[in-house]
Amino acid sequence: MTSSQTVSSGTGDSAYGRIAASDDVDISHGPILYLEDVTVSFDGFKALNNLSLTIEAGELRCIIGPNGAGKTTMMDVITGKTRPDHGTVFFGQTMDLTRMREPDIAHAGIGRKFQRPTVFERHTVFENLELAMKTDKRVRRSLLAELTVEQDARIHDMLRLIQLSRQQDQLAGSLSHGQKQWLEIGMLLMQEPKLIMLDEPVAGMTDEETERTAELIQKLAGSHSIVVVEHDMDFVASIANKVTVLHEGAVLAEGSMDQVQRDERVIEVYLGR
Ligand code: ADP
Ligand code: MG
Repeated sequence: MTSSQTVSSGTGDSAYGRIAASDDVDISHGPILYLEDVTVSFDGFKALNNLSLTIEAGELRCIIGPNGAGKTTMMDVITGKTRPDHGTVFFGQTMDLTRMREPDIAHAGIGRKFQRPTVFERHTVFENLELAMKTDKRVRRSLLAELTVEQDARIHDMLRLIQLSRQQDQLAGSLSHGQKQWLEIGMLLMQEPKLIMLDEPVAGMTDEETERTAELIQKLAGSHSIVVVEHDMDFVASIANKVTVLHEGAVLAEGSMDQVQRDERVIEVYLGR
């Protein structure tokens, strides 16, 4: 793949986009996510400045960086919410995300959890997972139908995974902040995304909730490709394999948590503010 010549068409609904969106993500010869030389400017200010990043299939990658480093903008580019000025963004081998529309990218299998939990407060925990499953394009036709035995079992498996079995009949609005976050992760997982992106999943959580979230993410690692953006260094240290430190819209350091914590430039960025 060549760099920087790939300029976004702006609309993303080109023939390329439609063809790509109908395909399954191809990771047979490389990473699940590939960014090269991605730049995003807002009124001349570069929120992303020739950012390059590669995520392998099955990887759990943590992305840290001070406020304003470009973490959310990076997620916006990957999910098609923001078009880069230039740069290459590929999902697997074949899907050029700069040419795809936001809903097509979601359908292609990139699931994003925003910072605020957005569950259906007036529905039960069980119903929230049911609704998430039914927005899945493969089962849309059964929206008014009874749950099959398999669907019911899938929901119960998910309730166990997110540790909300006992709360299944409670209204989602009555859950704690942490429990709402887990429910939303469960709702995301019901749609079986190929790549999961979590933006600050433990923000506002208690220490105990943070620990349980780390356990949940570790259970998902390996069988899922996950990108976690987080400020909480203890949390990142507890789950991290490979860490990428963003600063001023580009990669400042990448490696194990130990490596990046010992990096002089990283220390300066985090402690020198
Ligand atoms: P992070 O998530 O790492 O805190 P962001 O990606 O939110 O950083 O922001 C990176 C920089 O880009 C910040 O300086 C922010 O003010 C700026 N920025 C983000 N979105 C916009 C926007 N829509 N318009 C103008 N500036 C923006
Ligand atoms: Mg952010």
